[in-house]
Amino acid sequence: MAPSLSPIRSHHVAVIGAGAAGLVAARELRREGHSVVVFERQKQVGGTWIYTDHVEPDPLSVDPTRPVVHSSVYATLRTNLPRECMGYRDFPFVARSGDQRRFPSHGEVLAYLQEFAKEFAIEEVIRFETAVERVAPATEGENGKWRVESTEKEKRVRRDEVYDAVVVCNGHYIEPRLAEIPGISSWPGKEMHSHNYRIPEPFKDQVVVLIGNSASAIDISRDIAGHAKEVHVAGRSNPADTFIKQPGYSNLWMHSMIESVHEDGSVVFQNGQMILVDVIMHCTGYKYHFPFLETNGSVTVDDNRVGPLYKHVFPPELAPWLSFIGIPWQVVPFPLFELQSKWIAGVLSGRIMLPSKEDMMEDIKSLYATLEAQGIQKRYTHRMGIAQFEYNDWLATQCGCPGTEEWRKEMYLTTGVRKRAKPETYRDEWEDHHLISQASQDFSLYTH
Ligand code: FAD
Repeated sequence: MAPSLSPIRSHHVAVIGAGAAGLVAARELRREGHSVVVFERQKQVGGTWIYTDHVEPDPLSVDPTRPVVHSSVYATLRTNLPRECMGYRDFPFVARSGDQRRFPSHGEVLAYLQEFAKEFAIEEVIRFETAVERVAPATEGENGKWRVESTEKEKRVRRDEVYDAVVVCNGHYIEPRLAEIPGISSWPGKEMHSHNYRIPEPFKDQVVVLIGNSASAIDISRDIAGHAKEVHVAGRSNPADTFIKQPGYSNLWMHSMIESVHEDGSVVFQNGQMILVDVIMHCTGYKYHFPFLETNGSVTVDDNRVGPLYKHVFPPELAPWLSFIGIPWQVVPFPLFELQSKWIAGVLSGRIMLPSKEDMMEDIKSLYATLEAQGIQKRYTHRMGIAQFEYNDWLATQCGCPGTEEWRKEMYLTTGVRKRAKPETYRDEWEDHHLISQASQDFSLYTH
């Protein structure tokens, strides 16, 4: 473990959420000498990796009053990144006693996060079963403190406290986005979102359409194909004439997007195919959602752009006293969370300087202008893909620590190629043995 740095200033910081982001935030903030309270509404650490059979009563998760089930993980889920690549940089995700596979099941990821929490004694600062209900500026003006209102154990204990800073780590896979489908209000079948998918058995003998091109649509379609009569996947980005039977399956087809649905239960695709369908499952991703946060308009969510945020972390108007971890997507999440956390911790202590408010706003405007010039829609503002490595390296430079390891970048890229080419087998067959060796050499610094 790296030695603790002597802080320039120590602050009292509230972290919202004890998933992969909140855990590493707590560790980095404490390393830097801040005092931390983590609020977690569930009974344990791990966030989305805590698998549960339960699903929400509203299968589309649109009812704002519904009881929220946090996890979006389904029973057969295995990681879509190899474990070497996926873990925090200085706490490698090596095979321990459980699932030894390179792309392990969700339970192995949960066990890893539990071990991380134990290793760094993070549970001692977590308030479990405590939901944050409201976060708002406590005072007017610059450097304002934050009022955090929370309720513990079904509202039996209410707290109203003041913190110097708040770090938001509430996760972004809870509030579903839905596809717009012409005719859906009179279509008689069942609709659901992948957030509420757990097991394939209920789809036995059914005709199911999944909407989406993401990892979930690819995995869930194959999971269901073993039980359903027919599975059809409709992708918005597929060319209009797409109609491809998936190799290795007798009942799985890829289509272009749905054109319309009808009262007789039929679904018509842009490719002209028409079928009678029992279930439409939206595998269409999620919306950023901060129901507890009041910033007087300083931070808004507009078509899934959270902004303005300097480097996807600090709203200039409220920096550094409010920050967000985990906004970027299409990334390797844990190491990115780790670097964002180090940056926030260092900025709060005054060891790392932020630019002026005006310069941060200029940087954000220039990002927006670049996206617009490239014809990229707002909702892709936080999508990173390959750009994540430049972003990580920038954060690492700010923090004075090494950038992303070359093997990690290469492993991410080669896995992506394999995943697209061989969605059935990429988790069990690979050729990047040299990268695994390089990773284990690096890991020997941290494992004992
Ligand atoms: P979460 O894990 O969602 O944690 C947020 C926490 O905040 C939760 O514990 C929640 O209870 C708590 N919380 C929220 N609101 C409040 C509140 N108001 N008060 C108190 N507590 C609150 N990543 C990978 O690296 N590899 C993969 O293979 C992979 N596969 C995935 C598959 C699926 C289906 C999904 C949905 C995600 C996958 N991810 C994967 C991404 C995954 O989301 C990240 O790895 C990571 O777990 C996100 O961590 P987080 O802390 O940001 O959010």
